[in-house]
Formats: sequence, structure tokens, C-alpha cells
Amino acid sequence: MSEKHFDIVIAGGGMVGAALACALGEQHFRVAVIERQPAASDWPSNSHDIRVSAISRASQNIFTNLDAWRNMTDLGVTPYEQMVVWESGGAEIRFHAADIGEPDLGHIIENRVIQLALWQRMGQLETVQLFCPASISSLQLDELEPQVTLNDGTRLAAALIVAADGARSALREMAGISTTGWGYDQTAVVCTVQAELGNQASCWQRFMPSGPLALLPMETDLFSIVWSTTPEQAEELTSMSASEFNAVLSRASERRLGELALIGERGAFPLRLQHARQYIKPGLALVGDAAHVIHPLAGQGVNLGLMDMAELVDVLLHARERQQPPGALPVLRRYERGRKGDNIAMQGAMDLFKKVFSNDLLPLKAVRNLGLGLANQLSPLRNLLIRNALGTLGSTPALTRSQTTTSARD
Ligand SMILES: Cc1cc2nc3c(=O)[nH]c(=O)nc-3n(C[C@H](O)[C@H](O)[C@H](O)COP(=O)(O)OP(=O)(O)OC[C@H]3O[C@@H](n4cnc5c(N)ncnc54)[C@H](O)[C@@H]3O)c2cc1C
Repeated sequence: MSEKHFDIVIAGGGMVGAALACALGEQHFRVAVIERQPAASDWPSNSHDIRVSAISRASQNIFTNLDAWRNMTDLGVTPYEQMVVWESGGAEIRFHAADIGEPDLGHIIENRVIQLALWQRMGQLETVQLFCPASISSLQLDELEPQVTLNDGTRLAAALIVAADGARSALREMAGISTTGWGYDQTAVVCTVQAELGNQASCWQRFMPSGPLALLPMETDLFSIVWSTTPEQAEELTSMSASEFNAVLSRASERRLGELALIGERGAFPLRLQHARQYIKPGLALVGDAAHVIHPLAGQGVNLGLMDMAELVDVLLHARERQQPPGALPVLRRYERGRKGDNIAMQGAMDLFKKVFSNDLLPLKAVRNLGLGLANQLSPLRNLLIRNALGTLGSTPALTRSQTTTSARD
């Protein structure tokens, strides 16, 4: 049985795991990435990934600092300048990039584009070795030299193992870390549609009692739809004919973008809130969805995961300077302290939002309308909300800062 040695072993080469591998590889850590399936690399030019992400400015800065942003823009990203949130027969709030002197509020990017761009960058780094297709059959935790065994019997020893293997993290389970959370009794229906009135460089979100309907702009007249609703309605929406679906969706969006027409397949994702009770154990750290899963209504899941990985990079560089073992609990506690509070706050905010808006009680509706109306009229409050969504408020890890800001601060 062969045994290999690395500084860091990362389980999962999804968006968060691959970004972490690039960041650590660039800092001359010897990294192994274990991924069960290759990233998509070749797709017909007129096809669309039904999984997309709204990428914040902080995440864009991370991709730029990792030298992966150019690959992403070559493959296709869509900036949006405006966000419109409304409730039928109620108030509306609009956020404009120009209000805060920014060129855009973020970008909508297909998940396959993000992953491929990061894999392309990973492939350029001699310090990163990819094991794919592969998965982990056992884990041995230790503060100084944790190890994993792959399904083909290869043993990998490292100074730290990172679980970036998603919401159903096998590594988290092997480590005996339990989760808290609950199902939302909601399913997100996702697909791509063409809009009669074009995408207007805007994200649209309508709150309905059954859940939010989000329209995320892509290319010139396309939207990626994330429609969170009851499991029963989701079942209907995914099984009805395309023409029925177009009629129901156009009505639900109040035809703000004209008639909407389905392109390609529809997908459905049951939604849940989930949080790991611990992010760390001696020799192990959890990042991304392995640590936390939130409601997609504010499009923050992968942005939080990228913040985790950026924080972990700061912590590991700090430990290396002080010659501390990366897998030691005092080192890893800095990472957990740096991220858990923010993740819980975001998860709580999304949970509250979901509850407040998925309710038809008249007093709640009045408060919602008052809140949205007030936020729309008070520009300092509105601008604060925008800056928060951009992920650039407060003290953030080095990788999330733009290069000009980084050099000015450091
Ligand atoms: C409908 C919907 C819409 C969303 N929209 C947004 C949005 O607009 N913006 C946003 O920020 N977030 C959004 N999210 C959340 C976002 O998709 C997740 O937070 C993100 O995918 C998490 O990335 P990750 O790398 O942590 O995990 P994953 O994307 O789950 O990646 C895990 C990787 O690990 C691999 N893996 C798993 N198990 C193993 C194993 N045993 N061995 C080897 N490899 C393994 C998988 O193949 C995968 O490549 C949305 C989520 C949903 C459901």
C-alpha cells in the first residue's frame, strides 16, 4: 500500500475546496485534493448550467487574487447593476450599484464555470496534486499527522485535513461531528428561461407566502430561476408541460420581464438549514457546505464558504510564520472563532427572512411593507445593506480584499 505526504489534504474539489487548494498551493503548501468526479470541462456552447451562484464582491476579489477570475470571465460571467425585491400588492425596494459608486452589485456565474476556472488554475500549480476520481474510505485524526485512506488503498498523511465535501460530508461523519438543523419544507425549483424584455442587468426577487421566486440575470435576455416553494408545488412545477410552466412562471413574476420561456431542463433541490456543531477537531477543519447550509434566498451559501476558506488561509499562514502545527487545536480555534459567529448570524438572518416573508398574516404583512418601504426611502440604510451584501464590510480575510486595498492596508 503506497503512502504519500502532504501539508494539507482537501476532501472535495467543488467551488470551495478548489479555491482553497489554489490559495494554499500559491503559498507553497503541498496540497492534495480528493474529488470523486471530474469537473465538467466541455459543454455545448448553447447549453446552460441550471446551478448558478450570485457571487459577491468579496468572492470576486478572492477569485481575482487567485488568478482565476480571468478564466471565469473568459468562460462567461454576468454582472448585475440593480436588485429589485418586492411583495405582490406590497412595497418594493431597489438597490443600485451607482448609489454606492460601484460598477455592479455582483455577478451571476454558472457553478460549472466557477469550478472549471478554479481547476484550470489548480492545474497550473505544481504544489497541488489532484486525486480524481477518488474518495476517502477512512480517516485517522491526529494533531500532528492526520491521515486518510483512499478507496484504492493509497494512504495520504498531512499536517491538516480539510473537509470541503459538501452538505453530506462523509469526512464530517467519519470525524463524528454531528449537525443541528431542520428541513424547511420547501424545495427550490431551478431552470433557465428566456425573458421577453431582456435581463435589464438586474436581479429580481418576489416574496410569496409559499417562498421567494428569484430571477438571476444571465447573458442578454436569460434568467436563472430559483423558485423556493412547497414540495407539492415544486413537484407540480417540475412535472407540468413547458408551456404550462411558462404561463405559471410569467404570472408569478407579474410579467415584470414580460413572458418567460423555459430553455432546457428543470431541477429541484429540497432546502434545509444545517450547521455542524464543531468546525474543527485535532488535525481537521470543515469549510463551506460541510460546515453550514443556508436557505438560498439571499444567494450567500458559496460566498460564506469562500469566506471560510480565506479565513483558514490567513490562520494557516499565521501559524506557519510562528512555526505552529496547522492541525493543533489552538491554531484551528482561531479559524472557528473567525467564522462561526458570522455564519450563524447569516443563517439566522436568512431563517428569519424566510419565516417573516412566508407568512400571510396581515399584521406581519404590514410590518414587512413598512420595513421594505422604509429601507427603500432611507438611502444610508439601503447603502449599508448593499455593502453588507457585497461582503466588503468590516474586517475581512486578506484574500477578500481587492489588490489595491490589500497593498494599501498591508
Ligand atoms: C437552489 C440553490 C441555489 C443556490 N444559489 C446560490 C447563490 O446564488 N449564491 C451562493 O453563494 N450560494 C448559492 N447556493 C449555495 C451553494 O450552491 C453552496 O453553498 C455551494 O455549492 C457549496 O460549495 P462547497 O464547495 O462547499 O460544496 P459542494 O458544491 O457540495 O462541493 C462538494 C464537492 O465535494 C465532492 N465530494 C462530495 N463527497 C465526496 C467524497 N466522499 N469524496 C470525494 N469528493 C466528494 C463533490 O463531488 C463536490 O465536488 C445555492 C444552493 C441551492 C441549493
